[in-house]
Amino acid sequence: MTKNARGSRVEPGMRVAQKAALNRGVLDNLPGERRRQLVYKCPVFGSVLVAVTPVGTSQTCGVCRQRDPASRISRDVFVCTKCGHTDDADHNASVVILARGLRTAVGKASAAGHCGEQHAGAGHARPHHVLSSPGTHA
Ligand SMILES: [Zn+2]
Repeated sequence: MTKNARGSRVEPGMRVAQKAALNRGVLDNLPGERRRQLVYKCPVFGSVLVAVTPVGTSQTCGVCRQRDPASRISRDVFVCTKCGHTDDADHNASVVILARGLRTAVGKASAAGHCGEQHAGAGHARPHHVLSSPGTHA
């Protein structure tokens, strides 16, 4: 629904304001726009954006990391076929995504010898990047 809501002179649109608002909502939530906003906003809030491959995150256990499509017993429930871990499917996937993101961020920091950023003063021993979303910065 991103076509112009106003219609034409011959066929004027109906509920133009509502359709226009819906169009704005659709366009603001396109994956590319969401990513562009995260790239822009994360540094503002002191966050680091780490892209994580989503493959298998809904089928992987957040506790033992076993990947099995059978663990996703329904749309909303995850029950690990290996360890029995039971969780809300979306929450479990978010745990897997966080773990992947942290591994990626720490791996990049280790490969660079440090976090890759310039800092005043002495070097730092531990990685300080934290995967977070704008929603976690209250
Ligand atoms: Zn498990």
